[in-house]
Amino acid sequence: MTSRAEARNPELSKPCPFEKCRAQPKSRCTNRHNEPRDRSHPSRREDWAIALVECPDCEAPVDTRCITDNGQTRANIHRARLDAAYAAFEETLEAASRDVPPGGRR
Ligand SMILES: [Zn+2]
Ligand SMILES: [Zn+2]
Repeated sequence: MTSRAEARNPELSKPCPFEKCRAQPKSRCTNRHNEPRDRSHPSRREDWAIALVECPDCEAPVDTRCITDNGQTRANIHRARLDAAYAAFEETLEAASRDVPPGGRR
């Protein structure tokens, strides 16, 4: 079952790699006052996208970081990959809601 927070922030399924945050899976990222942030840290969203989709831009496979034109690992990922990950996630959500049989869930 996906909670509403996860539906809006699917990257919450991953821990946050940002050293000042290190939020655990299912927990929101926090700011330096230890208050929950509205949006997860960018590196957390990137980790999630890397684990979900290959990059439409540099064609880095799932679980592999994006690469530059020289074949070096990029410090961040291509914007297109993040967009692709959110698009893929929304498709999964829609497919899941279509799968509800008549009369509701068993
Ligand atoms: Zn974080
Ligand atoms: Zn890429």
